[in-house]
Parts: sequence; C-alpha cells; structure tokens
Amino acid sequence: MTGELQLHDEDGDARCVYCGAQAVGPCARCASPVCGSCCVLTEGGARVYAICIACDRRSGRSLRRAWLTVILWVAGPLVTLALAVLLLAWLTGK
Ligand SMILES: [Zn+2]
Ligand SMILES: [Zn+2]
Repeated sequence: MTGELQLHDEDGDARCVYCGAQAVGPCARCASPVCGSCCVLTEGGARVYAICIACDRRSGRSLRRAWLTVILWVAGPLVTLALAVLLLAWLTGK
C-alpha cells in the first residue's frame, strides 16, 4: 500500500476552472474550484452561497426570478380573463 495519492497534490493548490488563478473555494452547485472574480454570491434564503459564473448563468442569481415566474403563472390567466371580459363588455355595449 503506497498511500500516495495524486489528488493530494491538487488539494492545496486548486486552480479556478475559468481563468486558472488560485481558487478560493468550490462552487456551491457544481463543486468546481473557482477564484474570487469568477464566482457570484447568491442569496438563497438566509444563507449566502458562492456559485460559479456558469451556474449563475444557468439558474439565476436569486430566488427572485423563480418568484417572478410564479407570479406570471398566476397573473397570466387573470389578465387574459380581464381582457376577455373587457372585450365582451365593449362588444355588447356598442
Ligand atoms: Zn477565475
Ligand atoms: Zn458551479
């Protein structure tokens, strides 16, 4: 048993996967090492996460976009209904 692992080498000197600079920590989503300028701080409720720029682009920086989607899903049919009622009122009121 040699016990010499090649992984051990990379542990102390992780490189950013985007620009090659010394990484400050792993991405909270994909766990790839990123440097300070290639990660984004994300508010996920009460805690703050650091995620890489690729994950940030993929899923949005905060929950705000998800909420917007929910609001659109709820408000969309309501607006359509209101427009239909207005159209009916305009058609019948002529
Ligand atoms: Zn970087
Ligand atoms: Zn990531």
